[in-house]
Amino acid sequence: MTETVAPQTDTPTQDVPTFDLYIAGEWVPSESGRTFESRNPADRRDLIGHFQSGTPADVARAVRAAETAGGLWRRTPAPKRGEILYRFGQLLADHKERLARAMTREMGKVVEEARGDVQEGIDIAFLMAGEGRRMFGDTVPSELPDKWAMSIRQPLGVAGIITPWNFPIAIPCWKMMPALVAGNTVVFKPASDTPHCATLLVELMAQAGFPAGTVNLVTGSGAEVGDAIVDNPDVQVISFTGHSSTGKRIAERAGRRLKRVSLELGGKNGIVVLRDADLDLATDGIVWSAFGTTGQRCTACSRVIVERTVLEPLLQRLEARTSRLRLGDGLEPTTDVGPLINDAAVDKVESYIEVGRRESELVRGGHRATGAGLEHGHFFEPSIFSRVKPMDQIAQEEIFGPVLSVIPVPDYQAAVTALNQTRYGLSSSIFTRDVNIAFRAMRDFETGIVYVNAGTIGAETHLPFGGTKETGNGHREAGHAALDTYTEWKSIYIDFSGRLQRAQIDNQEI
Ligand code: NDP
Repeated sequence: MTETVAPQTDTPTQDVPTFDLYIAGEWVPSESGRTFESRNPADRRDLIGHFQSGTPADVARAVRAAETAGGLWRRTPAPKRGEILYRFGQLLADHKERLARAMTREMGKVVEEARGDVQEGIDIAFLMAGEGRRMFGDTVPSELPDKWAMSIRQPLGVAGIITPWNFPIAIPCWKMMPALVAGNTVVFKPASDTPHCATLLVELMAQAGFPAGTVNLVTGSGAEVGDAIVDNPDVQVISFTGHSSTGKRIAERAGRRLKRVSLELGGKNGIVVLRDADLDLATDGIVWSAFGTTGQRCTACSRVIVERTVLEPLLQRLEARTSRLRLGDGLEPTTDVGPLINDAAVDKVESYIEVGRRESELVRGGHRATGAGLEHGHFFEPSIFSRVKPMDQIAQEEIFGPVLSVIPVPDYQAAVTALNQTRYGLSSSIFTRDVNIAFRAMRDFETGIVYVNAGTIGAETHLPFGGTKETGNGHREAGHAALDTYTEWKSIYIDFSGRLQRAQIDNQEI
């Protein structure tokens, strides 16, 4: 949260804008009369804007608007809803560069990755626009003559969308596009670290022609706005991405109302490197997965599980590549690794570095980065621990920063055990040239996503995305599976025999 940032006086920012909530098609202030700040994590002197501190009363207004709009929206033919998604996808594409640069400024990832984040939004908008003309149900033969049987998807009503800061365009789109094409309306609460990205996104949604009330934006804290969305009896489904601890709290609260909840939570993703692997390729995959987005991806690689015979050559390559990474403002073309999101994140990474020093061997990094150009941001050196044991704390807990644990193991079987010895199950990967082993890994790795000869990141929007164990609660985003979160099945039987036919009783003998 940015509300706690101390006022900066050395370079006062002129004309800092104030942004409003978006409710019932209008940009309106919060009834609280309070705002909070969003600042650039690469340079905390750069104040991006003031944003409304929403309240439960604002949430209630937004839910009412969503409910009111829902009546017409759910009756709008799905292909017509899809046309608005197409327009929105095209607007995202038209504004890609502007959005990417705003994202880098607000959350720090290098601008090339920010473009990728926006591209994911475009991809899911177009994929889900197409669902407006598919949204398949089943039409099956009835067991009785002159009878028709089929199933269709129905929208649930109002969807509460609660998102993190690390993919501030992609994740809201991953949630809102399937919700909307299926005929739901949404109340969207973005992370308090990235309210500007959310505002820019919703501005484009308004421009695309989503009718007033179908999309509502309420900025503000998790405790005030988030809880109010979860507790509101007229919100039928919550889609949440964030920390496992927050997700568990939300599931408990929502469970009291038997509300549907889709959770996308933490990860401790591992890459297995076997003795026959192309080590240069593996190094490329590991460095990109571990230090891209400064390790702040849910699919980031934080564990490398390596067959002991190739530990040293792999470590040498990893150290050499990591030492060449340049830290800085993500808008600079020379930057490879941007800042962490905030001071609390730097403190957290630092505390895990201390834990790691006690448990294993630090071979690279381990410090706040404070060189020229870094002094006003939240920078931390990409760090590598070696000779980590599978159950060490740094190998078990999500650090969400640029910290990599290298775990040596004797063979493939031990690698599988180590990989699966975590409470998370989002993404995994294996580097090997042995096709038999690769297929075993696809079977043995207990994660929702498995890569072969690639890093742990790079999901495409037309396949299901999500994880096993404490990474979630069984739902998936993206792909056709995304519709499952936001729809209910309705089974329909049409009897055109003109007489009463009793299923399971009047079936003809054959
Ligand atoms: P948080 O859980 O801190 O926050 C996520 C969202 O939840 C924010 O909008 C936050 O609001 C809100 N929130 C906080 N408290 C509550 C509450 N009591 N009720 C309702 N909403 C609340 O996570 P981060 O934003 O720090 O995101 C990082 C985490 O997200 C990591 O664990 C990462 O692994 C996970 N993640 C998982 C992904 C997946 O697909 N599995 C993808 C991307 C990230 P506020 O900002 O105001 O506090």
